[in-house]
Amino acid sequence: MDNKGGIIVTELNELLYDKKLECPVCNEEFATKKVRISRLKLIKRDEDLLSYYEGENPLIYNVFLCPNCGYAATESRFDSVSARDKKILLEEVASKWSKRSYGGERSIDDAIVVYKLAFYIGQVLDYDKVELGTLAHSIAWLYRIKGDQEEIRFLSITKDLYEYSYYNESLVNAKGAKRDEIKLAYLLGEINRRLGNKEEAFKWFNGVISNPDIKSSPMLEKMVREQWRLTRNE
Ligand SMILES: [Zn+2]
Repeated sequence: MDNKGGIIVTELNELLYDKKLECPVCNEEFATKKVRISRLKLIKRDEDLLSYYEGENPLIYNVFLCPNCGYAATESRFDSVSARDKKILLEEVASKWSKRSYGGERSIDDAIVVYKLAFYIGQVLDYDKVELGTLAHSIAWLYRIKGDQEEIRFLSITKDLYEYSYYNESLVNAKGAKRDEIKLAYLLGEINRRLGNKEEAFKWFNGVISNPDIKSSPMLEKMVREQWRLTRNE
């Protein structure tokens, strides 16, 4: 088979393709499904930025999991494993892992298992709170797609993590990635609104509206004004 950058040519017509990876913890090679981005058709987007697509949602496949040692992380962070991380993962995750694969087609429940493991690993490795918040937010979204009330519990966890990050973490993390302050404040407003915390929602939305930087994000400005009005009418 001809393998071009992880895409197996014989499966080009499919919505999913196999990506080949080498685990940075145990060095085993494995394949995991990914959604072909070029085939995606956006249907709608929730106000806390969950996107819905025709067919598969790429969210379901965005965490890779090594079937051999149980290491799981989002695609963007998968290879960032230091020697210290590796030692911790071998002790805390690999030693307790019973080998199984989530590299094929995933149900929503499979995706929830994989994301929860990535979230646990993020806690063990002491990720930035904003990154842990993003994982918790993704878990809340998966429960929303499933129609499960557990969504609320994970939105609440997300709120606490985002809020901690907003007040305590520096704008630029150790890897040099800049956190989007205004988007984070908007999300805190919207998540509080969804949790029924009307006063808190207003506080965050007002902060975003009065921030001069909002002028550079017209889409976000439109959304925050919309959600502010919605909160007032609730
Ligand atoms: Zn591994």
